[in-house]
Amino acid sequence: MQFFPHSTVSRRLIAGVLALCLMPSAALAQQAPEPASAARVKELVTARRHMVVAANPLAVQAGLDVLRQGGNAVDAAVAVQAVLGLAEPQSSGLAGGAFMLLAEPGGKLTTYDGREVAGAAVTPTLFIGPDGKPIPFLETFPQGRAVGVPGVVAMLAQAHAAHGQLPWASLFKPAIDLADAGVPAWPRMVGILTEWQRMLGKSPDLLRDYYREGGRPPALGERIPMPEQAISLRLLAAAGPDAFYRGPIAKAIVERLEQAAGESGTPVLSLEDMATYRSVERDGICMPYRVWKVCGMAPPSAGGVAVLQILGMLSQHDLRAMGKDDPRAWHLLMEASRRAHADREAHIGDPDQVAVPTRGLIDAGYIASRAAGIDPARAASGPVPPGEPPFRTGALYPAADAPDIPSTTHFSIIDDAGRMVSMTSSVEFAFGSGLIAGGFVLNNQLTDFTFVPVKDGKPVANAPGPGKRPRSSMAPTVVFDQKGNPVLAIGSPGGTAIIGYVVEALVAMLDWDLDPQAAVNLPILLNRNGATQIESVPAADKLAASLAAMGHQVKRDNANSGIHIIRVTPAGIQGGADPRRDGVAMGD
Ligand code: GLU
Repeated sequence: MQFFPHSTVSRRLIAGVLALCLMPSAALAQQAPEPASAARVKELVTARRHMVVAANPLAVQAGLDVLRQGGNAVDAAVAVQAVLGLAEPQSSGLAGGAFMLLAEPGGKLTTYDGREVAGAAVTPTLFIGPDGKPIPFLETFPQGRAVGVPGVVAMLAQAHAAHGQLPWASLFKPAIDLADAGVPAWPRMVGILTEWQRMLGKSPDLLRDYYREGGRPPALGERIPMPEQAISLRLLAAAGPDAFYRGPIAKAIVERLEQAAGESGTPVLSLEDMATYRSVERDGICMPYRVWKVCGMAPPSAGGVAVLQILGMLSQHDLRAMGKDDPRAWHLLMEASRRAHADREAHIGDPDQVAVPTRGLIDAGYIASRAAGIDPARAASGPVPPGEPPFRTGALYPAADAPDIPSTTHFSIIDDAGRMVSMTSSVEFAFGSGLIAGGFVLNNQLTDFTFVPVKDGKPVANAPGPGKRPRSSMAPTVVFDQKGNPVLAIGSPGGTAIIGYVVEALVAMLDWDLDPQAAVNLPILLNRNGATQIESVPAADKLAASLAAMGHQVKRDNANSGIHIIRVTPAGIQGGADPRRDGVAMGD
């Protein structure tokens, strides 16, 4: 395999970071400051027994090796995540948060919430500066203010305890070997370290661990030694999650945050916050779509609810008959998406702390009433308001956005028994908070809270709070066939754009019969209750003109998706990896 087919250093990255530096936090939600790597051609991958699709080939190889040794999809997920934290540290790692879906033949779905939790010292004004105004997003970098208790390790350990087949310690071997040998710098990592140096270089930890002598970014393929992470991984392998939450790693994290707080005076996590963290097994949320059942993650992720709402609105229309080249189909997709985003902003927060009307939001009658507001021929003239879903127990919250900055990663796995894992994992910003402890990049996931906690005199559902999980857009999704067998696993990074990325690819496969690779190769169209963003590729020019004629305010843009799909077909297993990032699909 050719590991470094293209350099990804791109002018767009420079433009992205400059725009980001000048932008107030609210505008960031619509921005994609981590643009796609230079797109490269990828072929559909097929297999018969098992497959892994992830954002980095080394992580895919680690997962595949676990499957070859007789491990199952959950075992492989542990190995994939451990390696991703090394090979794609800008996107996810063991000091981040994640959501995992496990779908088993026979229709069983288990969903795990490993979202970060705010420390006990966090207050609703976490992101309000001394002048009473929200702090510009980038002033939270690099510092500890936005670091939540990491959830990935607890979640993986919980899933492994319930479902794992291979010993926990063995799953860390590929990552330990890689940390010992040094991690080869991948195109996307090099691109970000190079083009974002002005900002990332402000972090002494990144300068020490990722930049090379004299502050230069690593060259493509140059090995970056990771001795500290190697020690932590060995501890974690030997002692399990307690090493992370109660042992030396917890201590290293808390100490690094105390040090950072000394410099900036921001709240920190305590050893108590670390020790009391719990990942949560939640009820998944599902909805029929055509002949399938589509399932996703419940809140605190808004991703699952939004994906199901959009599909629910689309199910009233025959998209198959329209086909993928019909602008009417895309118009419906954009208008449905607009409405789901309006609901997302108003209604979703941490369900353990605010009343989230999840059941009402995915209620068939409610969705039909939202769909009825869509004009099949004309775009809404401006942002649509949120709806009033049934089965609410609390007051209505005002719509309020949060930056939801794109970094993140998604991987999909199927094992020999047909179990599927769909997991989206994040450190939030590129290289998270820019702080490193125990060798791990610490997340800055608390920036997914809405910065201004009160709007129009009302508390915001997604306001910061102690022990609270910030709202996410991550949307790991699985699809079951009529026999109850899982046949599709999908998800993507991309901040609030995740929702659109996932729905478009689902429609492409389920309505238009595209294979996973063809689905991720389609030009991306998004509507987040504003302009209709259409990927700047010639293939979308005609569609852009047609949608503009239907009243859409069209904006041409780059997409920063990283959609990774596995689909089971009568002909075998198919995998598709997003051409916009470094990922691959591999199977046997
Ligand atoms: N932090 C975001 C979330 O949890 C994800 C950011 C991204 O996709 O890059 O929704």
